[in-house]
Amino acid sequence: MQKTFTVGSKTFTLDQDKAEAAFKAKKIINGRETMTFNLLPLKYNWAYEIYKTMKANHWEPEDIIMNKDIEQWKDDSQVSDIERWIIMMGVGYFSAAEGIVGDNILHVIRELVTAPELKLVLGRHAHEENVHADSLLYMISSLGINPHECEAMFEDIPSIVAKNEFVTINSHILRRDIDLTVTENKQKFAKNLFLFGQCMEGTQFYGMFGMVLSLYRQNKFRGIGEMFRYTLRDESNHIELLRNLFMDLVEENPDIWTDAFKQELRQTMKEAIALEKQFIEDCLPVDSIGLRKEDFLQYIDYIGDRRLDGVGLPALSPGVSNPLPWLAEMMDIKKEQNFFEGRVTEYQKASSLEIESDDDL
Ligand code: FE
Ligand code: MN
Repeated sequence: MQKTFTVGSKTFTLDQDKAEAAFKAKKIINGRETMTFNLLPLKYNWAYEIYKTMKANHWEPEDIIMNKDIEQWKDDSQVSDIERWIIMMGVGYFSAAEGIVGDNILHVIRELVTAPELKLVLGRHAHEENVHADSLLYMISSLGINPHECEAMFEDIPSIVAKNEFVTINSHILRRDIDLTVTENKQKFAKNLFLFGQCMEGTQFYGMFGMVLSLYRQNKFRGIGEMFRYTLRDESNHIELLRNLFMDLVEENPDIWTDAFKQELRQTMKEAIALEKQFIEDCLPVDSIGLRKEDFLQYIDYIGDRRLDGVGLPALSPGVSNPLPWLAEMMDIKKEQNFFEGRVTEYQKASSLEIESDDDL
């Protein structure tokens, strides 16, 4: 079907069939190669929706006041050595991990997907990892932690080294010309999405989230806790983004979804959980007030199974309960409208004002 537009002395003919064919050619992988970054017509609406949510959640580390954290950091009567150690481990792990995720998003996932709206949301994802990495720099400089000590953490603490290697090995094998029409290679890519989204961001980030937010609940290191809450809110979008990508990839390429591959993914999650438990043991060698190691270990079993369930795989610890139910509430920042002040919420106010004025028209 052809449609003709006449503008002044010029006539343009647009081919509707061609446009529809272009839409059909949009795929997660092996779609039409576009030299132009043409978002329309949108096929993966969920990707654009997540992109908009991410923008509304924008935050800046420097908006969070660290004065009380600094005071507590220096004062033995307010916090214990074990509580300081948890923060050191958190800073040590995340200052490397955020960069590893952002790098994989840009140089593996964003490179291999073909639909522009997927590249758009992945660009935002990588940017958020930069914000997270930046927030750690802000914590380190505010507390006066020697940056060389953080460097040493991710090179010398075996449980941190092991967690990092677990993901970087898979990321590096995908950085070459890879033929994504071959089932085995598609599975490597699908595994990368699962590994980074469900195992790393979805499970291996949660031991430290739980520990830092436990301190936050006890009014210890509230500034750091606030930054972790914002980070956690971002991570929940990242997990959902990579889960949707994974699900659509499998739907478009059913040859991926073999029994052997499902087993491989469950095994990968099992390894992720074991590594995270080792890390928790290093963070919390002895129980501290309000911080029971057993709770955090069980939480990892619980969260790992939720991630498996999210992609249609059976649980590893069926029936395990959530020992930290308050953590889910901590994630829902919007509920506490009066608590958060400053620019973070103003970004959202600005966008809701626009909507209101649109209604008036
Ligand atoms: Fe992050
Ligand atoms: Mn992330």
